[in-house]
Amino acid sequence: MEKWKFQGNQGLKSSAVSVRGVFNVLMQSISKEKEVVHLCRVDPTDNPLFSADPVAAHAVSTAAHSGNFNGYPPTFGLPQARRAIAEYLSRDLPNKLSAEDVYVTVGATQAIEIILPSVFATPGANILLPRPGFPQYETRAALCGLEVRHFDLLPNSSWEVDIDSLEALADDKTMAMVLISPSNPCGNVFTYQHLKRVAETARKLGIFVISDEVYAHIAFGSNPFVPMGVFSSIVPVITLGSISKRWILPGWRFGWIATCDPHGIFQKTGIAANIERNMEITSDPPTFMQAAIPEILERTNDEFYSKNLDITREAANALYERFKEIPSLICPHKPDGAMAVMVQINLSQIEGIADDVDFCVKLAKEESLLILPGVIVGLKNWLRVSFGLERSAIEEGLSRLKAFCLRHAKMSQQISA
Ligand SMILES: *Cc1c(COP(=O)(O)O)cnc(C)c1O
Repeated sequence: MEKWKFQGNQGLKSSAVSVRGVFNVLMQSISKEKEVVHLCRVDPTDNPLFSADPVAAHAVSTAAHSGNFNGYPPTFGLPQARRAIAEYLSRDLPNKLSAEDVYVTVGATQAIEIILPSVFATPGANILLPRPGFPQYETRAALCGLEVRHFDLLPNSSWEVDIDSLEALADDKTMAMVLISPSNPCGNVFTYQHLKRVAETARKLGIFVISDEVYAHIAFGSNPFVPMGVFSSIVPVITLGSISKRWILPGWRFGWIATCDPHGIFQKTGIAANIERNMEITSDPPTFMQAAIPEILERTNDEFYSKNLDITREAANALYERFKEIPSLICPHKPDGAMAVMVQINLSQIEGIADDVDFCVKLAKEESLLILPGVIVGLKNWLRVSFGLERSAIEEGLSRLKAFCLRHAKMSQQISA
């Protein structure tokens, strides 16, 4: 034993909290008696009502058959892919992007992997992350030695950023903040006014904004989707996107980084150079996939988007209505975007359950129902429930959840109920 000089990375061991990791643990707890219902991960291909637009397969097959895209792609992406993404994003932006503002990535996951080390400027640098949030940011920050500080999202104010807590966290080592809208895990969509306030706060703090817009346009309530890049003249913004959610193509592993920065601050501060150095040492999306992107972005039918939005809205509403029937669960905000929502467990009404992880493990065991413990996204004793699913799965899942909560309800509650 003592002969060996190597050992596992302790940082990875302690920080690698991931949705997939927990998913695998919960899967092991499943009882074999009932068919499994998944309300745990967000993979829109789990919903048989969603199917990719045939435009996408056509585009990829044309690119592959052409034989022109078998070589290594350029480091930052094929020019036509970068241009198409810039044009697509610019439709919603006052300051238009050019192809040079866009870098293609292996999904938004790789975009996170590339951005976070680029933020690390000086020893002790820190980044501000939302709580609840998306665990990839914490894990990746830990791996590149970036200190993480959390600002709160307020459940009773439509999950808006607690601006005071944001301001209180920042110091001279703070480089950037992350914002996710439409939000996974909260299911809200920030308003124009709120995003503007966040942009002004970030400017005051001298930090830039990393805007995770993987759920861009998946907004089905009263707040329309507003890209953070709209405020790029106030604060420089790095937008992350991908085709995983809106186009129902998570397995195609294609995403992007876009720098929305009309004043060229990323150039001046060296952030752009850092991104480019990182891109030189990481892998790229397959070349034929890049070649297919212009057609996918330009030719996907509007009916495809609107039909999927209707399905998502219906699923979210059904879920929200069913939560009201379960007294020990509290859903503070009716979801109006993305594909997941946060629900609080009122532990005082429940017996024999220690916390959210215990809740989810027992739920898997007793009901073959998979839900993500809130602690994974930063909120202990909450649950994250995904609704990118067909109605029957939601109805079945919520029936089981209700049965579970009633079975574990405190005696006094059962009598009064
Ligand atoms: C799904 C998701 C990602 C990762 O997207 P990929 O393109 O599939 O890698 C990033 N951020 C959020 C908030 C997500 O929900």
